[in-house]
Parts: sequence; structure tokens; C-alpha cells
Amino acid sequence: MSNYSIALVPGDGIGPEVISLAVDVLDAVGDRYGHIFNYVELIAGGKAIDAAGEPLPAETLEAAKQCDAVLLGAVGGPQWDTLPGHLRPERALLGLRSGLGVYANLRPAALLPQLRAACPLKDEVLIAGNSAGKPEFDLLIVRELTGGLYFGERGRSADGNSAFDTETYSRAEIDRVLRVGYSAAKLRRKKLCVVDKANVLESSRLWREVSKEIAQEYPDIETSYLYVDNCAMQLIRAPGQFDVIVTSNLFGDILSDEASVLTGSIGMLASASLAGSGGAATAQGATAPVMGIYEPIHGSAPDIAGKDIANPLAAILSAAMLLRYSFGLEKEAAAVDAAVNAALDSGLRTGDIAGRSGAGNTEKIVGTMEMGKAVLKALEVI
Ligand code: NAD
Repeated sequence: MSNYSIALVPGDGIGPEVISLAVDVLDAVGDRYGHIFNYVELIAGGKAIDAAGEPLPAETLEAAKQCDAVLLGAVGGPQWDTLPGHLRPERALLGLRSGLGVYANLRPAALLPQLRAACPLKDEVLIAGNSAGKPEFDLLIVRELTGGLYFGERGRSADGNSAFDTETYSRAEIDRVLRVGYSAAKLRRKKLCVVDKANVLESSRLWREVSKEIAQEYPDIETSYLYVDNCAMQLIRAPGQFDVIVTSNLFGDILSDEASVLTGSIGMLASASLAGSGGAATAQGATAPVMGIYEPIHGSAPDIAGKDIANPLAAILSAAMLLRYSFGLEKEAAAVDAAVNAALDSGLRTGDIAGRSGAGNTEKIVGTMEMGKAVLKALEVI
């Protein structure tokens, strides 16, 4: 029986609603596969501003550091929108990310067959590049999160008429995020594409240099290279060709938003931010749990909070990523993914994904709780 500690930061708005269901799913996985998950509930964001006067109290960060991983709902809401920048709820996210040293952001973007109609691309586009010839794609973008243009030196000239931002990357920063990508590729279809702008940028040339060295250590993974402008085109011309994409902070920010739009639904998308390779390395018992922050990509959705209509699947899929990447529990993570699929297969839809699936009158619109319960029920028989 293995024991893991998970910091829970339900946050604001719909955060607590969707996180409580993700916890139910984790508990069901624990019972089924013989793991104990101990939770430490922490405040951050708006809730922390109200209770402690700041978005990320030191105790929250300290307690999170003592845990093996963090599961976060979302933070923010209109009641805190007028506060000065350093007191805004979203500051909690930046503080947690830097405080926990998570440098690799993983954003899967998969088009599930049940939600085919949510994707703006034509069938022939989806089929192109899909090895099974199906109108589907399943890709993972690994974005460097703590370096590059967003953290480089910046400024303005004395007269204010020119401005600059700098992109700096060290070998070590490129090396470690690439290894996260390779670990992820090992658990997937064993393809990795490095995206850069090496025809123009010196920092990109270093990315390419380092990645060519590291690729030799992973002969079982097919490594390819694309310039970012071409990658942006390929994502909408034939997304099925991609498995894992590894790229810099700036390029990853843009490409991951592009990819997520192709799946059509913000309520379905999970994310992980990791402080190590995780995944395959952890599964092979090579490392202890790898710290990661797992969260749906959506925000706190104050417009639908407390109404039992939020889609809980992004939060549940974030819990699956936590099992997979921080704890190396691949079988358990795959069971959660399959249970989500089964709930969708049965025709259940929350409002955000209803009416676009082509399932016609077999669709049934359900609330947050009922969707969560359907996933739990499906888990029992997987
Ligand atoms: P949002 O993602 O909260 O909502 C955008 C739209 O999507 C809304 O119409 C909402 O109802 C809908 N939506 C979001 N999640 C959904 C779900 N699970 N099921 C069904 N519908 C869903 O983005 P926003 O409205 O721009 O931001 C609201 C608040 O959340 C703001 O305070 C913002 O700063 C914050 N925010 C936080 C995070 C985070 O904590 N990581 C991320 C983005 C936004």
C-alpha cells in the first residue's frame, strides 16, 4: 500500500465544485488499486485574500512544498478585480509555480471522437497525418515555463520610444525541459517534435544544438524539428501528425492556445506543471514522486459557480495527469481517462459540450455532480 500526500487548492468560483469530484475519483482509484492519498486543503487566490489579506499566504506555499503534488481548481473573480496587481488572486498561481520550481508545463490537446463536432477542422484535415486514418488527434505540448522571453531583461529607452525584451536560455534549462518531453513521449506514441526558430534566433540555435545531443540518448523516440511558423500551420493542416511537442515559453504559450481551440471545449482540458521528468522515470521506480501542479486550464467561471452546471471533466483529467506524471501510476491514470471516455460514450454531456457531438437524441444533459458520478460508476467496471 503506497501513501501519497496531495495539496488541494480548490480556489474560487467553480474550483471547489470540480475539485471535490476529482478528489472522489482519486479516492476511488486509491480503493481500487491500493493507494492512500492524504489531502492537505490549502487556501490561495480570492479565498486567501478574504481570509488572510494576501493571495498566497506563506503557510500555503510552505505546506504545498511538504506535499508530493498540488491539485488546484482555479482562482479569481470579479470581487477581487479592482485590487492592485500584487494583491490579485492570479498572483497566487505565479507564486506557487515559482515557489515549487515547476519549469515544464504540459498541456494535452486531444480531440475525442465523441466531441468531434466541437472541432472547427474538416474531416480530411483531421485524417491527414493520423496514422489510423481517423478524424482525431491526441497531442501534448510541453512548454518551458520559467525562462526565455517572459523572464529576460526588458526595458525602454530614455525617451520611451523604443523597447526591448530579451530571450535567454541556458543549456541546463533546455536540457531539463526536453527530458520532461522525452519522458512523456515514452508513455505515449514515442514521437517528439522540437519547435524553434533556429533559422533566425540564436537562442533557438542553442535549443536545436542541445536537443540534437539529447535525442541520441533516446533512440526509441523519433525526434523531429520544426520552425514555429510552420508548426502553427501544421497544427491546423494536420494535427494528427503530432505526438509530443517541446518548445520555449513564448512559442509554447501561443501554440498551446491554438491547439486547445481545436478541441473545442475549455471544460475538457487539463494541465500539469512539473518540477522534473516524472512519468516514465517515476513509473520505472527511478525517482520519488515528482512535484507538479495540476489544474484545469479554465478559470473560476464565476458566471456559472454554484449552479451545478460546470463541466468537472477537466479537473478529473487533471487528477489523471497527477497520477501519471507525479506518481508514475500509469495504469491508474489510464483507468481515469477510460472512465471519462465511458461517461461520454454513454451520451452524458454537461451544457458546455452538449449539442455539438453528433450523438443526436442519445445525448443527455447533466449537471456537474451527475457527470462526476458517471465517471465514478464507469471506474468501477474498468
Ligand atoms: P473562465 O475560464 O473562468 O470562463 C470562460 C468561459 O468558459 C465562461 O463562460 C465560463 O462559464 C466557461 N467555463 C469555464 N470553465 C468551464 C467549465 N468547467 N464548464 C463549463 N463552462 C466553463 O475564464 P474568465 O471568465 O476569463 O475568467 C474568470 C476568472 O477566472 C477571472 O477572475 C480570471 O482571472 C480567472 N482565471 C483563473 C485561471 C486559473 O486559476 N488558472 C485561469 C483563467 C482565468
